[in-house]
Amino acid sequence: MNNIWSEIASQIKELYIPRDIVPLHTPTFIGNEEQYVVDCIRTGWVSSVGKYVDVFEKKLAEFTGVKRAVAVVNGTAALHMALKVAGVQENDEILIPSLTFVATANAVRYCQAVPHFIDVSDKTLGIDAEKLEAYLQEITMTRDNVCVNKHTGRVIRAVIPMHTFGHPVEIEKLINTCEKYRLLMIEDAAESLGSYYQGTHTGNFGKVAAISFNGNKIITTGGGGAILTNDEELANYAKHLTTTAKLPHRWQYNHDEVGYNYRLPNLNAALGCAQLENLPVLLERKRELTNYYEQIFCDFQGVTLFKEPSYAKSNYWLQTLVIDDKKFEINETLEVLNNYGIMARPIWTPLHYLVPFRHFPKSDLTATEKLEKKVINIPSSPII
Ligand SMILES: *Cc1c(COP(=O)(O)O)cnc(C)c1O
Repeated sequence: MNNIWSEIASQIKELYIPRDIVPLHTPTFIGNEEQYVVDCIRTGWVSSVGKYVDVFEKKLAEFTGVKRAVAVVNGTAALHMALKVAGVQENDEILIPSLTFVATANAVRYCQAVPHFIDVSDKTLGIDAEKLEAYLQEITMTRDNVCVNKHTGRVIRAVIPMHTFGHPVEIEKLINTCEKYRLLMIEDAAESLGSYYQGTHTGNFGKVAAISFNGNKIITTGGGGAILTNDEELANYAKHLTTTAKLPHRWQYNHDEVGYNYRLPNLNAALGCAQLENLPVLLERKRELTNYYEQIFCDFQGVTLFKEPSYAKSNYWLQTLVIDDKKFEINETLEVLNNYGIMARPIWTPLHYLVPFRHFPKSDLTATEKLEKKVINIPSSPII
């Protein structure tokens, strides 16, 4: 046990020379980051107004192929606003994977809606579309043209697929299910900037999507996020709601609803503009890393490198190993790797186990509960 993981640790370290400790994921600044940030400071435009926010939104929309991007303070705020503008209401049930970062469920709760946990597929690590369809068949009925949970009587309003570690879910199947059951789709694309489903960038499939630029994501603005949508009206509403719902006027303070101060500062957007310029290179380097890892891991029995699904091009944000849990105990594995200076991490604790969420409805979660004992992330920074 110790032997194979110490061998793996030394091979990972060789990739990341000259590091004693290899972090999980670090930001990469190789372009105009410093220049743009300094420009904000020299000109005084560091806060809520400035040209970089507009440029960042435009470039982001161009890169992802959506009509509009609205930049906000973080990915969680983007999700919160995505749910609000899509029409999620108090007491709606929202179907989300249990195997996701806690922000997905938090955003649902910020809307006073109810997370309803569903299972993932071990082939994609995202929502298992076929299992979801069978589950909806069993537990729902139609009332006044909306989908209702027979057991709770609540409206099931939306599904939030999440593209785990950058690997796109089986989105076409999910779209069909959403149409059949009249559900909205809101994509949690926080991890999947640079990931494509059959040539279309993630974030284009739902009514609206959220993306994150936290420090550990593929590109960063320090902290930041964006709402993506192909619906101009929704984009305008998202911009309005995230900028205190202020009606445009040269001096008057008139706000037409309770808004949010969620706009991304110009300073952060400046960093983001430079990062977006580097994104194509970072994506290439991440794919090279996958190829290195493939060579390493083809030699070790009971350890499999997770590869992108056949229909997808993934950004490979976090490199993922699936270990044979009959052979290796996950915590012992993590202990050995971390002792060797390799910052390996488990996948998230499934949300249906967590105190703030364990009383919410859930489907059978067999795959989720199995994957929790088998999936780890290993160092994933692009080697520059
Ligand atoms: C990172 C992330 C978020 C939230 O992004 P923040 O910018 O950290 O608020 C939401 N969902 C998923 C799946 C994430 O990985």
